[in-house]
Amino acid sequence: VQVSAHLENEMISGICTDITESKKALDEIKKLSKAIEEIDDIIMITDTKGVITFVNDAFVKHTGYDREESIDKNASILKSGKHDEEFYKNIWTTLLNGDSFRGLFINKKKNGELYYEETTISSIRDDNDNITAFISTGKDITKRIEMEKNLEKLAATDKLTGIYNRHKFEEIFNIELNRVLRYESPLSLIMFDIDYFKKVNDNYGHDTGDSVLKKIVAVVKESIRHSDIFARWGGEEFLVLCPETDILSAESLSQKLRETIEKTDFEKAGTLTCSFGVTYYKDKESGDSFIKRADDALYRAKNEGRNRVITL
Ligand code: GH3
Ligand code: MG
Ligand code: MG
Repeated sequence: VQVSAHLENEMISGICTDITESKKALDEIKKLSKAIEEIDDIIMITDTKGVITFVNDAFVKHTGYDREESIDKNASILKSGKHDEEFYKNIWTTLLNGDSFRGLFINKKKNGELYYEETTISSIRDDNDNITAFISTGKDITKRIEMEKNLEKLAATDKLTGIYNRHKFEEIFNIELNRVLRYESPLSLIMFDIDYFKKVNDNYGHDTGDSVLKKIVAVVKESIRHSDIFARWGGEEFLVLCPETDILSAESLSQKLRETIEKTDFEKAGTLTCSFGVTYYKDKESGDSFIKRADDALYRAKNEGRNRVITL
């Protein structure tokens, strides 16, 4: 009971009010706000213009912005620049339609670091059904995303050399073939193989052989373009797929690679050479026949004495 009393003309008058219900409601509000405060999810409330009116502990912990720094700022302080205007437009359309928005945000912390947040934004309405605020709840899933990316990378690359493996090459190769069929741009393919590599293993051991493979990859990487697709096709056999490259350019690139490898000091293994088969995509042929021709060219380079480039 809430009591208020006052003295007047030697008389005390008072009012007693039963506040059980409002006390219960107040306790309920306190309980809820404590839960929001302490929950692990990142919570932010903004007004209808996106100005922040509330953030919880998890927000402070994950973003690095404390309460004073975030309240009254626009939620755009979290913008990473990784989403286009369309992305934000879509959020506003969804919310103003009365729906909740769910999505993956790449946000920026106070220290500039990016993090991935799986977020749901909903609108809060008053008794007249007017939107008065937006509440965003999210989870920082950066660790999970990074793990997934790492797994993807592992599945796509060769463990020893770090370049694409055969599986990933085939995937990109098919995409490139489709592109060439559509735009009729030139596409060239280089296949090369180390000459007498077995001897390196036999004479100096498998570890030295591995170092040679790594060094060749490093040397080739230096000479090719960023857009070239470099992959380990087999044990000591490599492919370089060169988009937008005609056969003459691919041939001269192969000569350059051949000469660079020939001049490279492989330390324990001394000097080495490679043989090259070069070809270009023609007549809407199949991917298999394109690769087969590079393989045939390489085979001829081996037969004609190795350390040479053959074009077919
Ligand atoms: P050629 O000039 O005809 O190419 O002769 P080669 O000795 O290079 O060819 P061959 O195909 O007979 O031998 C390839 C060798 O490559 C056999 C295999 O042991 C070795 N090799 C394949 N993968 C690896 C690897 O990952 N590490 C090492 N150290 N050796 C490998
Ligand atoms: Mg070989
Ligand atoms: Mg071989």
